[in-house]
Amino acid sequence: MDDRIVSSGFRQGDDEQEQSLRPKTLREYIGQESVKQNLHISIEAALQRRESLDHILLYGPPGLGKTTLAGIIAAEMGQNIRITSGPAIERPGDLASILTNLADGDVLFIDEIHRLSRSVEEVLYPAMEDYALDIMIGKGPTARSIRLDLPHFTLVGATTRAGLLSAPLRDRFGILFRLEMYTPEELSAIVSRSAGILNVKAEPEGILEIARRSRGTPRIANRMLRRVRDYAQTRAEGVITLNVAKEALDMQGVDELGLDRLDRAMLLTTMDKFAGGPVGLDTLSAMTGEDATTIEDVYEPYLMQLGFMMRTPRGRVVTPAAYEHMGRRPQQSAEDGQEQMRI
Ligand code: ADP
Repeated sequence: MDDRIVSSGFRQGDDEQEQSLRPKTLREYIGQESVKQNLHISIEAALQRRESLDHILLYGPPGLGKTTLAGIIAAEMGQNIRITSGPAIERPGDLASILTNLADGDVLFIDEIHRLSRSVEEVLYPAMEDYALDIMIGKGPTARSIRLDLPHFTLVGATTRAGLLSAPLRDRFGILFRLEMYTPEELSAIVSRSAGILNVKAEPEGILEIARRSRGTPRIANRMLRRVRDYAQTRAEGVITLNVAKEALDMQGVDELGLDRLDRAMLLTTMDKFAGGPVGLDTLSAMTGEDATTIEDVYEPYLMQLGFMMRTPRGRVVTPAAYEHMGRRPQQSAEDGQEQMRI
């Protein structure tokens, strides 16, 4: 999926651009109104009490602004941020050294926090709860544990789904925020802001077209803006108009709702080979050659948001709206057939 323009995961080449496009303050952060409101109150209260902020868990599909928000939290608290990720912290000792190097008030951001190993997670519990680090000294019967005090830090954890976290870890976060997909209007505001920073001329209709095709995801919107800018520069007069945006994105295989080849393959497979479903996640994964976790975290949330696919206890089912979008007539599902035979 890594070459796909609509992949919402982080990709090579995004880095430099993301840094410059990343909002630095809560005020600049577009959308996610309820998260912003709640966060604003928590930050103000913590600043008034001169305390560190409660630990915060951010969850939602990739590219929705979790890392950006962590940076903003640190900036609004007037503190430094230290960024790491679940897979990067291999052993308990790695985490211990990160924790002992923090300063009072620092924000520690752990991306993909669900990927911490159990032994590392166990170091995190007393650190989050009591700002303490338990260290074992010696081995066998003479082993004893000593407790070191840690600075009062704020942990900001990010994950795609809150349910991926173990219950003890999830319970230790005082604040949980679910990031929602953005509306086309919010994405238009994001694309418009990015176009300003990148010095790209764009008409409002062109911007809205990019917004509509970016699957509710700012990272994808910014990436599409760059691609459309290239197209505008070489094929048009450097201005992103409605037609330029349409042509450039059609050329990338992204349709007017932001679906690409893989989304369409998933829908068509379910329609043609499984009579609309239900079909299991593993089967979908095998049929499309895409990783099951990616299907669950990246493709399905958007297809479900569009009302094209539903998760049922027996598997995934496509809806009449999906048939309509794909220009097909709904078939009678296998289940309906059985129902009718029984009658
Ligand atoms: P995540 O950590 O959830 O994968 P990021 O925080 O890295 O997502 O966001 C990806 C990019 O999208 C950022 O570089 C930023 O430019 C942009 N972005 C995300 N959220 C917003 C927002 N609310 N307003 C403006 N730009 C945003």
